[in-house]
Order: sequence, then structure tokens, then C-alpha cells
Amino acid sequence: MAARKTNPDRIEDLAGRLEQVEARLDDSGPRRGDATAGGRAASGYCSVPRVPERVFDADVSPERAGLIQVISKKWVNATVLHYYFFDSGPWAGGSAQEDVVRAGFAAWSEQDIGIEFKEVDSRDDAEIRIGFLRGDGAWSYVGRDCLLQGQNERTMNFGWDLTRAGEVDTAIHEIGHALGFPHEHQNPNAGIVWDEEAVYDALAGPPNFWSRDKTHWNIIRKIEPDSVEGSNWDADSIMHYPFGPGLIESPVEFRGGIDPAPGLSPKDIAQVRFFYPPQTSVRRELKLLESVPLSLSPGEQKDFSVLPAASRDYHIGTFGSSDTVIVLFEEVDGKFVYVDGDDDSGTSLNARLDVRLVKDRRYVLRVRLYYSFSGGDTAVMLW
Ligand SMILES: [Zn+2]
Repeated sequence: MAARKTNPDRIEDLAGRLEQVEARLDDSGPRRGDATAGGRAASGYCSVPRVPERVFDADVSPERAGLIQVISKKWVNATVLHYYFFDSGPWAGGSAQEDVVRAGFAAWSEQDIGIEFKEVDSRDDAEIRIGFLRGDGAWSYVGRDCLLQGQNERTMNFGWDLTRAGEVDTAIHEIGHALGFPHEHQNPNAGIVWDEEAVYDALAGPPNFWSRDKTHWNIIRKIEPDSVEGSNWDADSIMHYPFGPGLIESPVEFRGGIDPAPGLSPKDIAQVRFFYPPQTSVRRELKLLESVPLSLSPGEQKDFSVLPAASRDYHIGTFGSSDTVIVLFEEVDGKFVYVDGDDDSGTSLNARLDVRLVKDRRYVLRVRLYYSFSGGDTAVMLW
């Protein structure tokens, strides 16, 4: 529903009549959400683009595959995510729309996280490329999937007017996807039993006009279990759709619908700070030939300083039965410039970098664990 604006030029009784109309609309049954739900449902639902699901070897257990699926979408912490607004052509939105998205980025940044967002003028410099094509819905690729899209392509779109009341929540939701968070209502721990035909019917109509396939992908489909965070279901998450009555069979208390509270929920904040904790400048140095145990929980990350004593080719690798992603950055004028990375998840190999490092330059190695077979016996070494 559009925001209720008070125009001083309008006569009183018109405002009164509008109020009555709105009150009737509020009582009129199966609408999804309302103005307090950020207009998220009234405008239409977010539809995450389909990407090929990763196929694992037969010896990869469902638990291991699930953790890799969920965690591998996340960026390594302390990444600077650059975002770009298309400024001409059909994807441009103009400054009023852009400002709402900027406010969405600020809502995440205000949580004191280790990820920094930086607006740039060139799409070539941006991991997140934002368009405003009307009628194309709201969507974003999830986390590192953004890197798989062409540099001239959008990774996020807003298909309706964001300047209406509460629409900042649409921006916060899409940026949540860009940070690597999936839809909360697809959390398998939600235990939602859908009236599936009612859901397909509701979504086939306005404002979404979705095919059964699209509805399945975005609502009915359960996302792999994630044992990171306990993963209790959070019906107030910014990543949860509002739902009208008649779509959920159980839990019974939601038969009348779900209307997530506006903004980030306490669990959203806990989740983003788990994956992207604020950065401290104190880092352990990874010394030559020293094997450092990692003792990480799934999803956790450790950072090391690498200060080469000579300019030569080095190797950096993990040891032990685990799935990890390692990324090396060079510190240049207080900024971290990507050097190399490796992801060994779902394989029997270890993550390994073969890189030339230069004496007196400063590097930072970031190691994120997906899965460990026997709890903590993973180590990292420089040689
Ligand atoms: Zn979404």
C-alpha cells in the first residue's frame, strides 16, 4: 500500500474518506502484508535468480554439503563490497531511489560489521551492480554468486518505487541477499507446512504473477540445513516474506499470516555479526614453516598477518580433513587488495595458494572454515 500522505491543499473530508477506504482494505482478507511490513508484499515479492545448484561427489555427506552450500555464499570477512548504480538507460533509477538503497546499506553498516560498503562510479569496480528496471521485480544474487555475473549485468534490481513508506526494508532485504543470506521462510528449521496449492494460486495472481516453478524456488523449496547458529527460525527476519492468511497450515499460530517486524531483527544482527564480526587490527602473524592450528567452528574465520622476510615464491596451505576457503590480500595504504584465493570445499584436497610475495610488503590471510571432519584438527602453514 502506498504511504498515506497529508496534502494541506486537500479538503478534510477527502482525507477522511481515504481513511475509510484504507480501513476497509485492511479488513478485506487475503492481502499479503501491509504498510507496516514495509510494503514488501503489497509491492510484490523478492525473487532470487536461479543459479545452478552445486553438485557434490557421492562421498560428501548431506551435512557437509549443507554447510558448504550455506557458508560458501558468504564473503570472507573484511571484504570491501563496492556497489554501483546504473546511471543511464533503462536500469537507471535516479537519486531518490538510490538514496533509499544507500539507507539500506547504512542499516547493515550500523551493526558494526567487518564488511565495508563503498559506492563507486564504475561498474567495473563493483561486485554489486544495482538497477531499477520497473516491472522486473526485486531480486539479488546471493553473496559470492554476484561474482559469477557479467560485469555489465545487474546483480540486484528494484522493480518498484522505493520512496514509499517502509520500502527501505526492501532495500535492506536485497542487500541481505548480497551479503549471502537466503530467505528465512525457506529455513528448514522453520517447519512451515504450506497449503501448497493456495501458495501457488496466491502467487500466480497480482502483483507477482509467478509461475509454479518460480514460487517453488522462492517459497516452497527448503534450503539445506545450516547448523551454524542453531538456526532457529526467525519469523521477524528481514529475510522473511510477510504472508497472508490461508497459506500456512502449520505452525497453527501462523494460519492467519506472518507479518515480520520492520527492519533488522535481533537474530539478523546476531547472524551478520557472526559471519562478519567487527575487525580488530590485532592479528596473529603466520610465520614461515609454523603450523598454526585453526580450531574454528563452521562459518568462523581467522585472519593472519603475513610479513615476508624475502621476495620469492611462497606456498600457503591448509592441512587436515576440512573444507576451507583461504584468501590473501595485500595491505596497500590501509586498503586490502585481493591477491589470490582458493576454495577446497567438497573435495579431498586442501586449500593452497602458490604466490610470489614481496619483502617488506604486508599481507593478510583470511581463512574461513566450512566443515571439519573431526573437529578442529585443521592447521594453516606458510612455506
Ligand atoms: Zn529475497
